[in-house]
Amino acid sequence: AAYFSDVPQAPPDGILKLSVLSRADSDPAKVDLGVGAYRDDHGKPWVLPVVREAEARLAADPAFNHEYLGVGGLPALTDAAQLLILGSDSPAIAQRRVYTIQTISGTGANMVAAVFLNQFKRPADAAVYISKPTWGNHRSIFETAGHVVREYRYCNYDTLGLDIEGMLADLRNAPNGQIVVLHACAHNPTGIDPTESQWQQIADVMAERGHFPFFDCAYQGFATGDVDRDAYAIRLFVERGFELLVAESFAKNMGLYGERTGCLHAVCKSADVVPQVSSQLNRLSRATISTASAYGAKIAATVLQDPALYQQWLVSMLEMSRRIKTMRDALRDRLVALGTPGSWDHVSNQIGMFSFTGLSRTQVAALRDQYHLYMTDDGRISVAGLNSHNIDYVAKSIDDVVR
Ligand code: PLP
Repeated sequence: AAYFSDVPQAPPDGILKLSVLSRADSDPAKVDLGVGAYRDDHGKPWVLPVVREAEARLAADPAFNHEYLGVGGLPALTDAAQLLILGSDSPAIAQRRVYTIQTISGTGANMVAAVFLNQFKRPADAAVYISKPTWGNHRSIFETAGHVVREYRYCNYDTLGLDIEGMLADLRNAPNGQIVVLHACAHNPTGIDPTESQWQQIADVMAERGHFPFFDCAYQGFATGDVDRDAYAIRLFVERGFELLVAESFAKNMGLYGERTGCLHAVCKSADVVPQVSSQLNRLSRATISTASAYGAKIAATVLQDPALYQQWLVSMLEMSRRIKTMRDALRDRLVALGTPGSWDHVSNQIGMFSFTGLSRTQVAALRDQYHLYMTDDGRISVAGLNSHNIDYVAKSIDDVVR
């Protein structure tokens, strides 16, 4: 028998399967609302002007080379990323109790955190609680790292808003000291974020139960166009005295998807545990990637450190988040104008890259097979895939299948 003959087939990845189907469809009417990547109004990927400028500067720099980064990554990036996520006035940074390591984008930050927590979590049998639903990779990452994964209620599937009561009850009823994965902003796949007062309630329950927060922040600045507003929850928890981990991705907010640029931040209780924590995170990173990728890190660091580029970057994020918001409103308005059965305000009210439309599996399949419109089976659309050229077609198609 073949050495690997007992290896069971892995379950298919919904998103990857969807992009294969979409790529194979050459119908001119096709609209791909699957992949979570920003598109401009012509449906094309967008290289941010500041990224082009940073690349030009790197290309012109005679000192540029392709040497390995150090084990913690590029200090110019990790320092700037820390300030971006925690705020330049963060007491935790001033007290030198934060360690930041560069990772393979947000996914790598999740994985390093998951392995680290599995080795050092207290109690040792703590489970990891993820929202129902969540980014498809969360369960896979935390289970691969050896955790038991449980869910807390999050989406109210009737209203397509937040089930705050269910969420608080599940966190309150969990044993003390569990690990709770929270989306810092622009929740994937639902586009539903807690309000500031709901975050305070969540923090209250987490403190009461001694839960450990793990923030996954894949969309800072991309949700509202304001990097500080999108970091509200993280900074609230730090202010409340929580120790926590934050996974930060520059894939979406800088459009550096394939360059795999991200960081993991560990906010510790005090400066004296930082050497232990940093040594273990470095060891784990060394064992898996040895050193992080340099090119995207140099681009991101150039943008974050140059005041003029930084300001331009904020403008580009505002432009991306505004275009998405415009498309949300445009879709809602068209469905309302068509008299499409159901209420569509949630499409406008949700935030970030995605909208959880509430379309059923059957409707999603009909849209794919009869209208060349691609979205995930749970009815999630990437709003960035909508534009002024396809919005009427998308609204009319949805209207047809809902009737
Ligand atoms: N976490 C969440 C919630 C996401 O939505 C994503 C991207 O879709 C990621 C993490 C990781 O993205 P990346 O590894 O490209 O930074």
